[in-house]
Order: sequence, then structure tokens, then C-alpha cells
Amino acid sequence: MKSMRTIIEKIDKNKINTYIIREAGRILREGGLVAFPTETVYGLGADALNEHAAQKIYAAKGRPSDNPLIIHITNMDDLAKITSFIPEAAKVIADKYWPGPLTMIFDKSGIVPYGTTGGLDTVAVRMPSHEIAREVIDAGGGYIAAPSANTSGRPSPTTALHVEEDMTGKIDMIIDGGSVDIGVESTILDMTVVPPMILRPGAITREMLTELIGEVSVDKTLITPDSKKTPKAPGMKYRHYAPKAELTIVEGEIKEVIAKINSLAAEKLEEGLKVGIIGTEETVGCYPAGDVKSIGTREDEATIAGSLYGILREFDNDGVDYIYSEAFATGGIGSAIMNRLLKAAGHHVIHI
Ligand code: AMP
Ligand code: MG
Repeated sequence: MKSMRTIIEKIDKNKINTYIIREAGRILREGGLVAFPTETVYGLGADALNEHAAQKIYAAKGRPSDNPLIIHITNMDDLAKITSFIPEAAKVIADKYWPGPLTMIFDKSGIVPYGTTGGLDTVAVRMPSHEIAREVIDAGGGYIAAPSANTSGRPSPTTALHVEEDMTGKIDMIIDGGSVDIGVESTILDMTVVPPMILRPGAITREMLTELIGEVSVDKTLITPDSKKTPKAPGMKYRHYAPKAELTIVEGEIKEVIAKINSLAAEKLEEGLKVGIIGTEETVGCYPAGDVKSIGTREDEATIAGSLYGILREFDNDGVDYIYSEAFATGGIGSAIMNRLLKAAGHHVIHI
């Protein structure tokens, strides 16, 4: 692909520069690409109703064309225009969790091009809460397709620097709004089936949704990953979020996990290889050798979600050959953390 000039602009989310927003809006309306922060991860935006613009996203990311895009909106009137039916339960959920880190899937209306939905008759929609994202969406015409702003297969970007690593020379503009809040992608909930089904875990958990609308199912491929079934979200079948090093998760009683990771690390270090270790605030002091990083504290799992992708990128930059990680609890946001970590590890887990 021909290299282009990428404009990089900083915006303070508490004092939004309207000139930069207008410029981003102009680029999007003319069919260009703008990366911007959301509360989950950085998104790579294009006009979702312009098939040609949406196609540019696939080229910039190197994304397979059967992997559909999520359309980002800022209000419920716009939801009605891109869908052909909105179930009552979706209105209840939107009322409580939109704007926020939740994507819902609906039957699409005629104005949504198949180039945006990967040929599907359904459309994924999210209403983000991040102030900069909302301003960019409105300035760009109201319907912005925005997958994570990373090269396909790399960890999703949680800072503008991560976006720059992957997208400089490939897109028109990057808006730097600082670090994101959550750090893992939105929950995806399929509203075209009864009961609604979670296709990707995120910060809005199954427990939160069940409490609100009753029964919610979970795509079986998320629970038993080696089953022969294809995930319902086309993108979930790809080996996402992968660091360059081989990642192994060690699961079990924490003292034994630490001992196992130390012995695995010692073996590789002995061979002259570079080893990365993912521990927590509680355990980093227990690893005497290797490139040891704390992913956050078990007292507050949101800190772990927030650091996950950044740490995987740091290990890429450090050039480690092997990474060993502790496993994390799977309740609440923990399901999203373990889903991403397992994918990054290609489901390579040692149980002790
Ligand atoms: P990303 O934008 O990188 O967070 O990826 C979007 C995710 O949403 C991918 O896993 C897609 O497969 C999924 N997705 C988007 N649209 C649909 C849809 N209509 N049906 C099912 N999954 C979808
Ligand atoms: Mg992605």
C-alpha cells in the first residue's frame, strides 16, 4: 500500500478542541480514516454508510473481509435508521448501558452496505461514552465504523502511541486523547436470537445483563474453545491479540504457579533465551529472573484489563522469546481478561 501522511493531533478530553474535531469530521465525510480514543480501546473510524470508505479499514488493518465492522452512533434515533427491528429487551439494555462498552447485534436496514457487515444481514452497533469519540462520530456524519485501530492479529491499542506503531502512513489522522479507561473491547450481545447471546465478553458482564433482562446465553465456542464449532462473531475465529513471543498461562494455586513459572523461566534463560513474566502487584517480587512485569492488582481486576494489551506490546518491543503468565479469576470483567489472554496464548495453558 502507498504510504500517506498521517496527521497526529492531541486533544484534552476535558477541553475538546473543536477545530480538530471539525477537521476529523471533514476527513471522515470525504471517505478518509481517523483513529480516535473510545472508553474500550482506540478505534479506526470510517463512514460506515460509504462502502468504499469502510473498505479502506480492511486495507489499513490487513483485516479479512468477512470480519464485519461495528457501527458507532451517539443517539437512539440513529439506531432506528440502521436497523430493521429493535427488540424490547434491547431498548431496556440501551437505557441502562448505553452509552457504554456494549455492542448489540440487530437485523440491518437497507442503508447499511454489505461491505460494512461482511456480507451479513445483521449489523453490530455501539454507542460509546467517550467524549472525544462522540464528537468525532457526530462530526463525521453520525455512523462511524470503528474496529480496533491495530494491525490485524496484533494486540488492540490502548494508547495513541500503539496506534502510531501500527497505522502511521496508512491512515489520514490519529487523535491522541491519552490512555483509554477500560482496555478490552466491548461486550458483543446478539439481539437477533432469543435469549440474547454473548458473542464476546467485555466490561458489561453476563451477570449485569441477566439481572436486567433475565436469561442470556453465551456462545459455546467461548467456553470450550477447541470445539469444532465456528464462533457466531466472525472475528472471534481469528488468532487475535497475539504477541510475537510464545505465551503460556500457568493456572493453579498461586504458590505453585510462581514456582512453576520460575522453573520454566530458568530453563529458557539457561538456553540463552529472553523470558517475559506477567505477575501482579501481589507477586512481582517472587520472580527473581526474567523481564518481570506487573499487570495490575488482584484487588481490582479493572487494573488488569487496563494493562493487558499494553504489556503484550511491551514484550514485543523488548523482543522476548517466551512469556509466562499467571491465570486470573473468571467472574465479572475476569471473563473478558481470560478470553483475551487465552487467545493471545493460542489456548496454551498448564494446569498444576
Ligand atoms: P473489533 O471491531 O475489532 O472489536 O471487532 C468487531 C467484532 O464484532 C468482530 O469479532 C466481529 O466478528 C463482530 N461482529 C461485527 N458485526 C457482527 C455481526 N453482524 N454479527 C456477529 N458478529 C459481528
Ligand atoms: Mg479488533
